[in-house]
Amino acid sequence: MFGRRFPLFRLFGFQIRADAGWIIIALFVAWSLAIGAFPALIPGLHAGVYWLMGVVGTLGLFGSILLHEVSHAAVARQYGLETRFITLWLFGGVAETVAEPANPSVELRVAIAGPVCSMVLAVLALVGGVGLDLVGAPMALSAIFVYLGWMNLVIAVFNLLPGFPLDGGRVLRAILWQVNGNLYAATRTASRVGQGLGLLLMAAGVFFGIAGNLLSGLWWILIGSFLRRAAASSMQQLDIQRVLEGVPVHRIMDRAPMVVAPATTLEHFVQDYAYARGRMRYPVAVADQLVGYVDVADVRQIPRDEWTGRTVQSVVHAADANALIDPDANGAEALRRMQAADTTSLLVANDGRLEGVVTLDDLVRILGVKSTLEGGTRLAALRASELRR
Ligand SMILES: [Zn+2]
Repeated sequence: MFGRRFPLFRLFGFQIRADAGWIIIALFVAWSLAIGAFPALIPGLHAGVYWLMGVVGTLGLFGSILLHEVSHAAVARQYGLETRFITLWLFGGVAETVAEPANPSVELRVAIAGPVCSMVLAVLALVGGVGLDLVGAPMALSAIFVYLGWMNLVIAVFNLLPGFPLDGGRVLRAILWQVNGNLYAATRTASRVGQGLGLLLMAAGVFFGIAGNLLSGLWWILIGSFLRRAAASSMQQLDIQRVLEGVPVHRIMDRAPMVVAPATTLEHFVQDYAYARGRMRYPVAVADQLVGYVDVADVRQIPRDEWTGRTVQSVVHAADANALIDPDANGAEALRRMQAADTTSLLVANDGRLEGVVTLDDLVRILGVKSTLEGGTRLAALRASELRR
């Protein structure tokens, strides 16, 4: 679903990132505004003015999307749900929270915050545009406001469609969750509606295409297929979580991981550990007391001619809470921690004593085995990359 993401800036303490494809979309929006929409709205201006309007309109549009997502994140924060990233991409933004909402009313408030923000922005921009017209401001300026007003209205209405994982789908899920008390069943229904809506949008796209409006037809098909896939993948995430919740980490971990002594030279580490075992991370311990861990990527930062003179001790990371997991914790918790720390392996330790290592591949394997044995082969062909988010 996502390509490469790069960090932009921080806003109200939230890290804002952009998907690489977003740059292309931003250019496309600016171009289509400068060439099509604005010249049609107010003819007779200089081409440079249209381009300036296109760029300002695009910045305003992405600013609006950003504020929509920040509203979700700010309300989530009020209920103790931290947002890791806000990512701008093809069709808008995504605010990724670390955990699921604790109850339906929190879910409802977080979901509704974005559309409410977009509605308020729509009213402000439309009133601003009309007001600027009345006081005789240049039409180029008021046209941008009117455009942003309509776009915010579109953002609010589209996001309120009742298919999960759109905001309206989250509202639907919250209501179903409140009524029957079952988050899993509520998500299943809401994401089925999401998949159905996706198909409906795609069918509408085909209809527009046949009716002669090829570009907007393609656009609807694209949005519909995105929604359908996003809904299916949200359901899959929940299935994964449900299976992993029943699997204690100590049952699937590697009980005899290769352990590195702090005095090992980097040369020795590379030749006899990294190249021998082919793992990216190794626990560092003295006897069975855990010191920390070393990542293969750390060694790369050290010039090669220093590998024989330096030891693992000089690059070791302390084993903080993000890198550790309790042997009795379940696989779903392990997956959450890997996603939060953006890693594929965790040290399994009990009271500072190393008991093993659990990796993303271990989780993928047990998902395959369990779903094959217990019905439903949907998780059997899962790839690790689908768990990384
Ligand atoms: Zn939203």
